[in-house]
Amino acid sequence: MRSPLSAYTLRRARSLTDALKVLRDAPETVPIAGCTDVYVSLEFGSPPGTRYLDLWPLSPLRRIALRDGVLSIGALATYTSIIRSRLVRSRLPMLVAASREVGGAQIQNRGTIGGNIANASPAGDTLPVLAAADAVVVLRSLSGERRVPFSAFYTGYRTSVRKADELVVAVEVPEVDGAQWFRKVGTRAAQAISKVVMAGVRSSTPRIAFGSVAATVVRAPRTEAALARGVSLDDAAVVLSSEITPIDDLRSTARYRRAVAVGLLRRFWAETDSE
Ligand SMILES: Cc1cc2nc3c(=O)[nH]c(=O)nc-3n(C[C@H](O)[C@H](O)[C@H](O)COP(=O)(O)OP(=O)(O)OC[C@H]3O[C@@H](n4cnc5c(N)ncnc54)[C@H](O)[C@@H]3O)c2cc1C
Repeated sequence: MRSPLSAYTLRRARSLTDALKVLRDAPETVPIAGCTDVYVSLEFGSPPGTRYLDLWPLSPLRRIALRDGVLSIGALATYTSIIRSRLVRSRLPMLVAASREVGGAQIQNRGTIGGNIANASPAGDTLPVLAAADAVVVLRSLSGERRVPFSAFYTGYRTSVRKADELVVAVEVPEVDGAQWFRKVGTRAAQAISKVVMAGVRSSTPRIAFGSVAATVVRAPRTEAALARGVSLDDAAVVLSSEITPIDDLRSTARYRRAVAVGLLRRFWAETDSE
């Protein structure tokens, strides 16, 4: 059931420092960026809190830039801005591919990469890309800034190391060496949450990551090692099947997800073969 909006307070952040002070003084405050995930919770009567902090005015957090060879994408960068960014298109085309598959045009205009990261859904479409790219999440509080490797960011289903007084301010992506690949399998082409989503980097040390096959986005290190050793794709598929832990839920079954993950691995390998 829809939650009555009169029960909530909303404050607009005037600056990043202002926002961080609000979170320090009232850590139960829920930051909102594009609000595309939070609004769904409000509509379904499961609001994440009663005090909200609107980050949308914090324009500096929309910046996409190259700093010392590292691609820095501000937390408030929307999917549309990522799709339009020449820098992202040239450095991280698999993130552009993932952004094109998120929701529809309205969600792409409003949804942010920081929201996708902080929301911590195992089905977030950008997350396998960031995992395969060895990205780093930049967190800031009034006490300072810390950088968390993407592989250490999530602690379980919808949980992360982000503390209540911290904001995700950016995600940093080092240069990716090798052919990049992304594929999402859902019920339909748009406005669908994935049944399985995969990103891969083909190099002498292949990197592959999956969403919707475990409680969090996951890399598949044993499969990566098998591919690096040059085992047959059939053998790599066996390793992958034992490495992921999909579940049955309303969107799919564990069996189907396992079969699709193996199919995606095969396509990744075939389609990046000549690159
Ligand atoms: C119709 C529809 C279709 C969708 N389709 C897809 C899809 O195909 N693929 C997909 O991955 N997602 C999809 N989503 C989910 C959503 O759009 C994305 O996860 C989006 O990136 C969320 O960003 P946001 O800015 O709207 O986050 P918000 O809703 O504002 O916030 C989401 C969560 O992150 C926290 N948060 C936001 N920004 C920060 C920050 N900077 N620091 C700390 N915490 C923060 C909030 O407190 C909240 O817990 C869809 C949603 C809808 C409604």
